Amino acid sequence: MENYCNAYFKVDMNEVIRNYKRVQDYIGPNTDIIPVLKGNCYGYGLVPMAKLYAEHCGAKILANAAVYEAVSLRRAGIDADIVVIGGIPQHLLPAITAYNLQCPLFDAVTAHRLSKLATEAGKSAKVHIKIETGMNRLGIQPGKPLKELIDLVKYLGNLEIIGVYSHFATSTADYYDSFALEQFRRFQDGVLQIREAGFDPRYIHCCNSAAAAWFSEAKDFSTHIRSCTSVLGHMAMEDGREPIGLVEPCEIGAYITNVHDIVPGESVGYGRAFITEKPMTVATISIGFADGIYPGWMRKQGPVLISGTKTRFLGCCMDQSFADVTGISCEIGQKAILIGKDGNEQITTWDMEQFCGNTFEYLYGTIGSRVERIYSWV
Ligand SMILES: *Cc1c(COP(=O)(O)O)cnc(C)c1O
Repeated sequence: MENYCNAYFKVDMNEVIRNYKRVQDYIGPNTDIIPVLKGNCYGYGLVPMAKLYAEHCGAKILANAAVYEAVSLRRAGIDADIVVIGGIPQHLLPAITAYNLQCPLFDAVTAHRLSKLATEAGKSAKVHIKIETGMNRLGIQPGKPLKELIDLVKYLGNLEIIGVYSHFATSTADYYDSFALEQFRRFQDGVLQIREAGFDPRYIHCCNSAAAAWFSEAKDFSTHIRSCTSVLGHMAMEDGREPIGLVEPCEIGAYITNVHDIVPGESVGYGRAFITEKPMTVATISIGFADGIYPGWMRKQGPVLISGTKTRFLGCCMDQSFADVTGISCEIGQKAILIGKDGNEQITTWDMEQFCGNTFEYLYGTIGSRVERIYSWV
């Protein structure tokens, strides 16, 4: 309310804590969790979620995709280990030493630069060697290329290999996906090679939420899993399987700003995109595509909950949208729920993913800052 927002994204913090514990129980006591906070923590909000993980879930290390996010966490007072797992533009490398961050290493250019920065700062720089196993995004292949990098690290002397990691390209698609199995084999080769060169990295990690859910060999080989999806409480597999028993912790909603009746032949919104053939009651809702809500959801008659009834959107504009409330008792001022429960009805993230044909990372990651994040502890 204090922020005068038209729409909200409410997070049940205790449920996230329980989900974190559910994931920890599922993976067992020998593997820890690196919570991933990329994309504004998939829309949940970067700093509040980082604080939750570090202060209430026992996370000792956090992962960001970008230096910008990692520095934001340091400036917010978070002193846990932070690893930036995404590619880093070279001109941002000074932040790694200045803010005591950890970063990927897979190439000689970065090694030289980082070593120089570390020398200037009078300390060592902590790196996680990224093994190229098949994603072909960032990484170095085991064998000769990795040997040359290891030799360079030894020569430079002030880069500390604190971790080794890789990332599966297909782990969300199928249990025991053969490509993921091959990626794991290559990852093991890389880790072995680094150990044989005399290093003993503290962080070995290759599983995201999905891989941690099915790939127990890869999980057991690792010291940590990297998870965003599952620790929040969302299912990780593309087909909807979710073996952990997670509970969705969020509610996304807005408010009814008008309710009125229309007669056959009347239209709703720009371009007369929706024309009714029967008498209808239409509600105007205080959320639109400028809030970062997937436009197709509202334009193609995706679901919305009003007064405990599941009904449909009829269209959307930049800041407002329309819902069919024919036969539903409702009034100006009340909530319309896009994600969450209302009475006996529920719209889940999975429902939304199916409807939009898009992943929740995208659908939530684009939700804008003017949708108020409400962190509930009750
Ligand atoms: C996004 C990301 C993760 C987290 O993935 P989830 O499936 O949400 O757990 C882990 N590792 C890397 C490299 C990522 O990019």
